[in-house]
Amino acid sequence: TTNHHRQHEEIVVATRNKKKLAEIKELTKDLGLKVLSLEDFPDAPYVREDGKTFSENADKKALKIARFSGRLTLGEDSGLCVDALGGAPGIASARFSGKDKSDLKNNLKVLRLLEGIPFKKRSAHYVCAVSLADKDGLVGRSVGKCSGRIGFEMKGSCGFGYDPIFVIPKHKKTFAQLGEKIKHTMSHRYKALKKAKLIVRKYF
Ligand code: IMP
Repeated sequence: TTNHHRQHEEIVVATRNKKKLAEIKELTKDLGLKVLSLEDFPDAPYVREDGKTFSENADKKALKIARFSGRLTLGEDSGLCVDALGGAPGIASARFSGKDKSDLKNNLKVLRLLEGIPFKKRSAHYVCAVSLADKDGLVGRSVGKCSGRIGFEMKGSCGFGYDPIFVIPKHKKTFAQLGEKIKHTMSHRYKALKKAKLIVRKYF
């Protein structure tokens, strides 16, 4: 189909995370699709993130919301893996600091756990798993990774989540300092969506 026809085609992003949704919208705007989210489906079922991997959780979100909405749905699960912490927070990234979780508390917990560890041993990577599904089942999957180091303090105000402590060594700056324009040329989400977009183009 031409871009013109695609204007009327829709995709549901199975998330309520506004910052994540904004990034996904920006990174997929070239598809020319109407992007819906769970905000547009207030009665959508709750998706329990009890998978053992990012991809399992992305599958669950995509499949459950696609069945409910009847539309092509993108499930996304992502997080930060710190080598010195055996891959933690990993799939528990959003809720790392427990019940009264917040981005600030999550960042401070990682910094505290890494106290005394030198920069070269502070390697980490972000993972973004994307799954696409429609009412009949899974349509495709992709995963993107982005490597960096954990800094010694929070720096910068762009982005979300762990971006204030995620340092890109090449730039000697955090994602929160570098800003969205640079983040969107190299992030885990950029890489996962690059492949996911090819799958969506074939689908329509
Ligand atoms: P999810 O909503 O269960 O996929 O949780 C994702 C969590 O991983 C977020 O709440 C953040 O803590 C973290 N995360 C994922 N992607 C990013 C990113 O691009 N920047 C910063 N933190 C991220």
